[in-house]
Amino acid sequence: MTAPQTAATPLTALSAEEAMFQEAVREFAEEKVRPLSHEMDEKGALDPSLIPPCFAMGLMGIEIPEALGGAGGSFFLAALAVEALSQVDPAVAILVDVQNTLVNNCLLRWASDEQQRRYLPRLASEWVGAYALSEPAAGSDAFGLETRAERKGDQWILNGRKLWITNGAEATLYVVFANANPSQGHKGITAFLVERGFAGFAVGKKEDKLGIRASSTTELILDGCEVPADNVLGDVGKGYKVSIETLNEGRIGIGAQMVGVAGGALLAATRYGKERRQFGKPIVEFQGVQFQLAQAVTELEAARLMVYNAARLKDAGKPFTQQAAMAKLFASQVAERVTSLCVELLGGYGYTKEYPVEKFYRDAKIGTIYEGTSNMQLQTIAKLLLK
Ligand SMILES: Cc1cc2nc3c(=O)[nH]c(=O)nc-3n(C[C@H](O)[C@H](O)[C@H](O)COP(=O)(O)OP(=O)(O)OC[C@H]3O[C@@H](n4cnc5c(N)ncnc54)[C@H](O)[C@@H]3O)c2cc1C
Repeated sequence: MTAPQTAATPLTALSAEEAMFQEAVREFAEEKVRPLSHEMDEKGALDPSLIPPCFAMGLMGIEIPEALGGAGGSFFLAALAVEALSQVDPAVAILVDVQNTLVNNCLLRWASDEQQRRYLPRLASEWVGAYALSEPAAGSDAFGLETRAERKGDQWILNGRKLWITNGAEATLYVVFANANPSQGHKGITAFLVERGFAGFAVGKKEDKLGIRASSTTELILDGCEVPADNVLGDVGKGYKVSIETLNEGRIGIGAQMVGVAGGALLAATRYGKERRQFGKPIVEFQGVQFQLAQAVTELEAARLMVYNAARLKDAGKPFTQQAAMAKLFASQVAERVTSLCVELLGGYGYTKEYPVEKFYRDAKIGTIYEGTSNMQLQTIAKLLLK
C-alpha cells in the first residue's frame, strides 16, 4: 500500500487505495466491532475474537514493509484506520493505534535489521505490542522514570514498575523504558524490547476506567527482569530520543481517534434528531438544533484537517511536531464538546446506555490525558512558537 499525495491535493481527498482501505475498515467496524461494543464496555474487557481479524486485515502492521509480512502502507493509512474504528469503538481503535503509531513505528525507526527481522513479522501477524514509558511517579515528567537497568554479563536486569500501559493484558512484546545510567539524568534512559515470557516480567493490576473500558490499561512489574543485551532498542542512553520522537507520531493517532469519536457521536445524534419528534416535528427542524449541529460539524472538519495535515506532513518527511501537538490538543477538545452536545441532543436517552453517545462522551475524555496531557501539548506548541 502506498499513499500518493501531491502538494496540490486537498487534504481530505483520498487516493483510490486510501478510500478502499477506509471502506474496508469501516465495514469491519460496523459488522464485527459494533455488535460487541456495548458488552465489552460493560465488562471492561476486549473480546479476544476481535484480535485475529485485526491481524488478518493488515491493521496491526500497516507500515511494516511487505517483505517483513506487513501491509507496506503509509502513516496516513494508520490514521485513517484509527479514525474509522473510533467512529464505532475507540477502545478497539487504541489497540490498533498503539501497535502501529508507537510500537511498530519505533521498531521501524530504531531497531537493528536483525531485531526487525525477529520482531516485525510477528507484530504484523500475531503479537500485540505495548509501549511502557509511564510510571506511578513519572507521567508528564516521564524522564523522571525510576525503572533501572543494570548490565550483568550478556543481559540487562530491569527493576521497576510501569503504570497505565495500554494493551498490557494482550501484549506479547513491550517496549520498556528504563534508566541505565541515572547519574546522566535523562541521558541514561534506554529502550528495551521485553517479551512477556522473559524471567522477572509480570503484568500487574488492570485499571477500571471511565472510558475506553474495553482497552486494557495495566501495571507492569519488572522484578529482576532478564533482557538479552541484543534487545536494546536503539543505543544505550538514547531512549529519551526514541520516546520523544515516537510520541510525536503517536499524538497524530490520538488526534485521529478523537476525530472518530466526535464523528461517531455526531452521526448517532443526527440520526436520532431526524426521528425524534417534539412540538409536532423532528427536532432537527428547529433552527436552534441545526445551528448546534452546524457548529459541531464545523469544529469536527477543522480537527480532521489538522490531523490529516499532520499525518501527511509526517509521510512527506517534513517537520510535524507542532502540528501533531496542535492536532491532538484541538481534536480532543472538539471530541469533548461534540460528544457532550450529542448527549444533550438525545435528551434523556442520551444519558442512558441504550444509545452509544454516553459511551462516546466517556471515551472522549482520555484524549486530553494520554500521550501527553493538554497542558503538555500547549507546552510543546509554545516552545516551538517561541524558539
Ligand atoms: C487509559 C490510559 C492509557 C495510557 N496508556 C499509556 C501507555 O500505553 N503507555 C504509557 O507509557 N503511558 C500510558 N498512559 C499514561 C499517560 O500518558 C499519563 O497518564 C499522562 O502522561 C499524564 O501523566 P500522569 O497521569 O502522571 O499525570 P501528571 O503528570 O501527574 O499530571 C497531572 C496534571 O498536572 C498537569 N501538569 C503536570 N506537569 C505540568 C506542567 N509542567 N505544567 C502544567 N501542567 C502540568 C497535567 O497537565 C495534568 O493535568 C495512559 C494513561 C491512561 C489514563
